Amino acid sequence: MVSQALEGIVADRKPQHIVIVGGGYVGLYSALRLQRTLRRELRDGSVRITLIDPQSYMTYQPFLPEAAAGNISPRHVVAPLRRVLPKVRILNGRVSKVHHEARTVTFEPPAGQSREIEYDVIVMAAGSISRTLPIPGLEDAAIGFKSVGEAIALRNRVLALLDRAESAEDEDVRRRALTFVVVGGGFAGIEALAELEDMTEDAIKYYPGIDKKDLRWVLIEASNRILPEVGPEMGEWTAEQLRERGIELKMETFLQSCEGGLVKTSDGDEFESATIVWTAGVKPSPVVNSTDLPLDERGRIKTTTRLTIAGVKGAFAAGDVAGVPDVTNPGQFCAPNAQHAVRQARVLGDNITAYLRGEELKDYRHKYVGSVAGLGLHRGVANVYGIKLRGLPAWFMHRTYHLSRVPTVNRKVRVVMDWTLSLFFKRETISLGEIEHPRDEFRAAAKSGLKR
Ligand SMILES: Cc1cc2nc3c(=O)[nH]c(=O)nc-3n(C[C@H](O)[C@H](O)[C@H](O)COP(=O)(O)OP(=O)(O)OC[C@H]3O[C@@H](n4cnc5c(N)ncnc54)[C@H](O)[C@@H]3O)c2cc1C
Repeated sequence: MVSQALEGIVADRKPQHIVIVGGGYVGLYSALRLQRTLRRELRDGSVRITLIDPQSYMTYQPFLPEAAAGNISPRHVVAPLRRVLPKVRILNGRVSKVHHEARTVTFEPPAGQSREIEYDVIVMAAGSISRTLPIPGLEDAAIGFKSVGEAIALRNRVLALLDRAESAEDEDVRRRALTFVVVGGGFAGIEALAELEDMTEDAIKYYPGIDKKDLRWVLIEASNRILPEVGPEMGEWTAEQLRERGIELKMETFLQSCEGGLVKTSDGDEFESATIVWTAGVKPSPVVNSTDLPLDERGRIKTTTRLTIAGVKGAFAAGDVAGVPDVTNPGQFCAPNAQHAVRQARVLGDNITAYLRGEELKDYRHKYVGSVAGLGLHRGVANVYGIKLRGLPAWFMHRTYHLSRVPTVNRKVRVVMDWTLSLFFKRETISLGEIEHPRDEFRAAAKSGLKR
């Protein structure tokens, strides 16, 4: 049923413009929903949708640890926005400002002038960034773990450091190269640590000069528990498993400084490391600070249970950028995770459609069901709907769950092919760090040519 509001719009010939800021979980899934529910309006031109993101793909972040470990190709952990959203205009670049009163966003393309884009409805879906602290040396010595770029750079770095250690005679150089530090024991940190440690265990079979006991993997965690997403019992079990694998867990410990890779921790320890991964929490995308939209005390966009932005019209938000009240747990907010983001996106899409049609909006309601985590090949931990699994069954559940969630059949098939190939052939353990500096060789050649 086309509402009077939409009939009016068609008569006016002024299409309603929906602008989505961010093409991650919320951006992609809400646009997919709108593409379906507003099919007719998109066809007759009464509605148009624009999605803005610096990247032309959505990253399926839960697969980043497996991409870092080389079990999944980096290209297969992302979904191409233009192919998945043919009815949506994709603009690559950043939104640097939102002026909701004037209904405009400032769009910064990678090249050329920034420009104002007008909208009727805005969706804030810009996610989160790493929450860092003013720790001396952190900015220069550490790397985050939120993007494909970071995951693959980390993989290349870890493997290149094995090459470095194998080729060095200096004990200090070897020790520094073979010491790996992860700060933060949530699912991103623990999965990254466990998958990468598992990969190095496989890789050192080809390095006769490196023994397992030469590798030092250290987790620094400020609280007294890890992996809170799977509950205290399974978190404790995971800690034991990691310790059995020789991983050092520094609990209730803070990173104090890491200048030049010299790690100093609050328990008085001091050691050199060439790899420091920071996964100690997230905060909303900084774009929220350049808007006239209301923020809560944690700096998230103040959002209602219907995923509208509190106190304003024509504005919606969800995912890591938004403070969404958890109606299943009064007084609390939905945690920043994919489980909520993907479900919120569907409700958000339906609510925009209802808003445009002048219909009633729905509340977002989902009770957190627990989580699954991969801890390396054939190892995992899970606590879902109260069912607790350890080891191989949990790992199998982790893979099947995420396979069912990764967007598009195309990606699912490619991921299964990656996993199947790694069943029959050993995973690749070569560093392609060179691709981060593709012009070095050519520049050196050009310089040597000048000398002749
Ligand atoms: C390693 C890792 C593992 C994880 N594993 C799990 C898991 O197992 N289970 C789980 O539930 N959750 C997991 N999560 C969390 C989950 O991935 C996030 O909660 C989810 O991605 C949030 O979705 P979102 O749409 O809010 O943000 P995102 O998916 O991060 O998308 C935000 C998008 O906005 C874009 N953007 C940012 N700023 C701007 C701007 N100014 N202009 C335009 N675009 C912008 C970004 O480029 C990005 O594409 C994991 C996260 C990580 C990092």
